[in-house]
Amino acid sequence: MADNSEQSFFPEGTLVSVLTAQPLDRFLDYKAPASGVKVGAYVIVPLGPRQVLGVVWGAGQGGFDPAKIKTVIRELDVAPMREEMKIFLEKVSAYTLTPLHAMLRLATRAPGLADAPGMRKLYALGPEEPDRMTSARERVIAVLEEHQGLPFMLGELADMAGVSGSVVKGLVKQGVVLEVETPRDAPFPPLDPKAATVELTGQQQTAADALRASVATHSYQTFMLKGVTGSGKTEVYLEAVAECLRQGRQALVLLPEIALTVEFLDRVQKRFGARPAEWHSGVTMTERRRTWRMVGQGGAQLIVGARSALYLPFRDLGLVIVDEEHDTSYKQEDGVLYSARDMAVMRASICGATVVLASATPSLETWVNAASGKYRRLDLDARFGTAELPEMRAIDLREGQLERGRWISNILVSEVQKRLAGGEQSLLFLNRRGYAPVTVCRACGQQVACDHCDARMVEHRFHKHLMCHQCGETKPVPTKCPSCGVEDRMAAVGPGVERLAEETQARFPDARIAILSSDMAMTARALKERIGQIASGEADIIIGTQMVAKGHNFPLLTLVGVIDADLGLHGGDLRAAERTFQLMRQVAGRAGRVGKRGLACLQTLQPDHPVIHAILADDDERFWQAEAAQREQAGVPPFGRMAGIVLSGPELQPVFDAANQMVRNAGPLRQLGAEVFGPAPAPIARIRGRHRVRLLVKAAKGAAIQPALAAWRNSVKLPNNMRISIDIDPQTFY
Ligand code: ADP
Ligand code: ZN
Repeated sequence: MADNSEQSFFPEGTLVSVLTAQPLDRFLDYKAPASGVKVGAYVIVPLGPRQVLGVVWGAGQGGFDPAKIKTVIRELDVAPMREEMKIFLEKVSAYTLTPLHAMLRLATRAPGLADAPGMRKLYALGPEEPDRMTSARERVIAVLEEHQGLPFMLGELADMAGVSGSVVKGLVKQGVVLEVETPRDAPFPPLDPKAATVELTGQQQTAADALRASVATHSYQTFMLKGVTGSGKTEVYLEAVAECLRQGRQALVLLPEIALTVEFLDRVQKRFGARPAEWHSGVTMTERRRTWRMVGQGGAQLIVGARSALYLPFRDLGLVIVDEEHDTSYKQEDGVLYSARDMAVMRASICGATVVLASATPSLETWVNAASGKYRRLDLDARFGTAELPEMRAIDLREGQLERGRWISNILVSEVQKRLAGGEQSLLFLNRRGYAPVTVCRACGQQVACDHCDARMVEHRFHKHLMCHQCGETKPVPTKCPSCGVEDRMAAVGPGVERLAEETQARFPDARIAILSSDMAMTARALKERIGQIASGEADIIIGTQMVAKGHNFPLLTLVGVIDADLGLHGGDLRAAERTFQLMRQVAGRAGRVGKRGLACLQTLQPDHPVIHAILADDDERFWQAEAAQREQAGVPPFGRMAGIVLSGPELQPVFDAANQMVRNAGPLRQLGAEVFGPAPAPIARIRGRHRVRLLVKAAKGAAIQPALAAWRNSVKLPNNMRISIDIDPQTFY
């Protein structure tokens, strides 16, 4: 897209309109500095006593006292914001009802943007020969020769050559490698689209061809790429990335689980000969800044990141991959409420890019869009090689299968035993952290609840405390009932993974057991290492929560036992069935490998539940069709629009009063054909001491409800201690 730089230059003294990331609901006028300034320029402007970051959005609006208008202090040495980025931020702002200043904050989350670029050491090929050649030294020289004079950071070079930094330093001493001082924010090493290609299978080839063709058109198109884990989705979309590199455009790969990107990065390096830029919470501050700048200047061709990478200042974005597109972590649940998947489609449609939504179990939204022809559908039916999908079996728990305080049925025990005997791994899956979800007093029947939330405290025996999963509050496990005061009658009820591990250890005393749960207070790196160890066989039985369902491959794993397949089916959540289906499928998909068919056992009290049936029947299409039909009939997403509104405050009554006031003011919304439900206490009626009351707005699919919602929100003046959040297309109700 052209950025009309010529028409949009503001000479010294002319008024420009600046958007800052400060919580103000308007643009501010400033005078252009002596050098003049372009539209889109990132600038530092005075605001009261402070100097803040802003972007020149356009011509000044005037209407202020000219004598009071200040001058832009300076322009930053970064690529100006492109027109399409401005449009994107405006659109997301309008869609999600997020103020534009908050969008700018999201788009400038890199520290030190205003600093002058610093210097650092880079390494390039020097003129000398080494005193003696070792294979490590050879590899360093080979990497440098291969990249024809391109300098590397020490870590990058050492990584690519597979040597330690000291080998490089040794070569520097001899003048074989040169150490050069260069600006800190250097471009990323170039990626080679044909560094290592693989031969695709027929179906993979067809899919890759379709993606490549789309990328080559430089026009917008979204694909749903559906295929079971191991079917080669990654292999196929890397072909689209290769095409994007050939076209000289930038590609973005979004992944849900940052802990698992290291594996992915290795794969990218193998395929394209160098590592891509990364963008997620684990990236250091200096790397963040480098990435942000280089993405803007075109010094980064491929970015692998978490959802917020979508707001990087791409120079020329040609492809966005959303891997595991159904993953709930793509929906930001605090601050700016947006779905990264939907916003990826929006961004791509603005800049003429291809989108690939990849999943074994697509979201219903995506499935429906593919069915209606809005997205193009590509299928990979088989696992690569001869790996088959696992056999699926239900274990009916109604028949007195379990003794009190036990959660592993005898059938499952004997299957695990077979795996132990055969040197294979088993996974016992339970999507519940901690030791026990409930602590109850056997004398009075009271459960221990959080003091600040409408939630029960979960026992974490490993950490020796009770914890509220809503607010994180902890307290010691009581020996005396907090309600009736009776001693020593407190009991843990129900299982979490820690308790499951205890039972597992008792049943299989000689087995090596590993727990994988998100609350294990591990760094991403340590976690990755642990997962690697487990994958290589350092455990016989893996006990895991949701996090094992994603991404990582355990080649020795041939049995998956789902301890409570019914867990996600309770609760009135719109997406309960879809979520359970996806999760069970993903977990079951962990079992089996080439030449050895896996088995997935689902322990259930409801073997006749339609969702359990669908999971066992291995008939995705039927499940989606039934689910889609139900939602269509109910007029809920993706067939209707929804917005969840939560008002919260320290006292219940004023919150309810405000919510009732909003209902009375809802006339304009109703004129659009929208229905307003509530107020009602939110499913979690209190979090962190704040009472929560919710309203629900339902409207027809085409209804433009956002402007009406924005006006509606502003129609009630809320006291300072009260907050309102509006979630468009809510994913969860809490
Ligand atoms: P998915 O992303 O669908 O889980 P992957 O692309 O990760 O699948 O493929 C699974 C495994 O099979 C990977 O190790 C991958 O390298 C390998 N694989 C898939 N397709 C091919 C192919 N055509 N040639 C060689 N290896 C392949
Ligand atoms: Zn709490």
